[in-house]
Amino acid sequence: MHDQLRLTIDGVNVTVPQGSTVKDAIEATNQSVPTLCWHENLEPANACRACVVELKGSRVLVASCSRAAEDGMEIQTTTERVLNSRKLVAELLMSTSNADLAFDLQHLAEITGANPGRFSGGATWERPLQDDNSLYVRDMAKCILCYRCVQACGEDAQNTFAISVAGRGFEAHIDAGFGRELPESDCVYCGNCVAVCPTGALIGKTEWNLRQEGRWNEEGLTRTDTICSYCGVGCALTLHVLDNRIVKVTSPADHPVTHGMLCVKGRYGYEFAQVEGE
Ligand code: SF4
Ligand code: SF4
Repeated sequence: MHDQLRLTIDGVNVTVPQGSTVKDAIEATNQSVPTLCWHENLEPANACRACVVELKGSRVLVASCSRAAEDGMEIQTTTERVLNSRKLVAELLMSTSNADLAFDLQHLAEITGANPGRFSGGATWERPLQDDNSLYVRDMAKCILCYRCVQACGEDAQNTFAISVAGRGFEAHIDAGFGRELPESDCVYCGNCVAVCPTGALIGKTEWNLRQEGRWNEEGLTRTDTICSYCGVGCALTLHVLDNRIVKVTSPADHPVTHGMLCVKGRYGYEFAQVEGE
């Protein structure tokens, strides 16, 4: 077995270490790969097909985020077939979801020249807003079924398994088990699903409220890194502050302890810091 794999990407020779994916090999040539379901700290779900490329000898397009690189592969990333496929992915997702906060999907649509109204005439699916707890809101009209939340809640991070994909075809949706409301489910409100959601379908309550009031200002946010004070693990927190008020807490995705994941206290237990004394 070779330690190094030699591939060609659009005719350019590239060498990557054993264990790399096709996406890694493409990025080694300084090209970017569009992705929606892929996340650096989650196992590839192969759900969106935005990253497909043409592999010589393969009948079908392959998902570059999950396909292991192999010695001698010949990959094409910009053929008409690849570009049409990516465009179709954007058009299909935009026909069934509200992409207002789905910035990666908006970008995919832009770079592929997708027509968002091609299949739906511009309408999005009606799905009721689920506002059943004080920490985060679920607006499933924005969901693209990327599976990231299910993976973060499951064995990729939280190991709570509170949510899964239920139903098939047009009925497929993220469910907290038997159609239950979140407070009746196994959810422990870590918010790790919220942290990885790429579309705003899962969104912190504070951010949701501020957006509804027209007071969310992304450019006005300041971000300060600190260490969580609740226990001795030492998770890194990034405090997002707007108008001198903490409005969101995240953790850096590249942090070696958290990998972007937190518990309920670290993510949502910040209100005490801004309660004024008697
Ligand atoms: S908040 Fe945590 S436990 Fe609840 S559904 Fe999301 S990832 Fe699972
Ligand atoms: S709720 Fe968000 S993370 Fe979960 S499947 Fe839908 S878009 Fe993906």
